[in-house]
Amino acid sequence: MLDSIRLPEQLRKQIEDYLEKHLPEEACGILGGRDGRVEVMLPVRNELQSPVRFRMNASEQIRAILWLESQGMDLIGIFHSHPSGPEFPSDTDLQEHAYPESAAIICSLTNAGWVMRAFSIQEGRAFEIELVFH
Ligand SMILES: [Zn+2]
Repeated sequence: MLDSIRLPEQLRKQIEDYLEKHLPEEACGILGGRDGRVEVMLPVRNELQSPVRFRMNASEQIRAILWLESQGMDLIGIFHSHPSGPEFPSDTDLQEHAYPESAAIICSLTNAGWVMRAFSIQEGRAFEIELVFH
């Protein structure tokens, strides 16, 4: 598991725009890259179309992961929004995170705008990972 993830500002903006577009629903997607540096964000449809839950559409998810593999990139993280908080993984997120080797990136909407935090989820427990914007 990575101890830090680097996310270019340009990609942060791209993620925020995508999340904004789907408000008030939660939106989700996949971050791929190399050596802990995110190079692409791949949107995946939230099957549940809910403001408090998400589940990635299975075929879009598989397609995104296969594409990353074809590019020699790692699945660095799965991001999703919390339009009304909290800033950390919910109990459901802890139970449903299916990729222990990849981070869960929680993007919560606060009065000061979007806050992104990265977590490693292992056996139902979350450990924060440093997220560096550059
Ligand atoms: Zn969540």
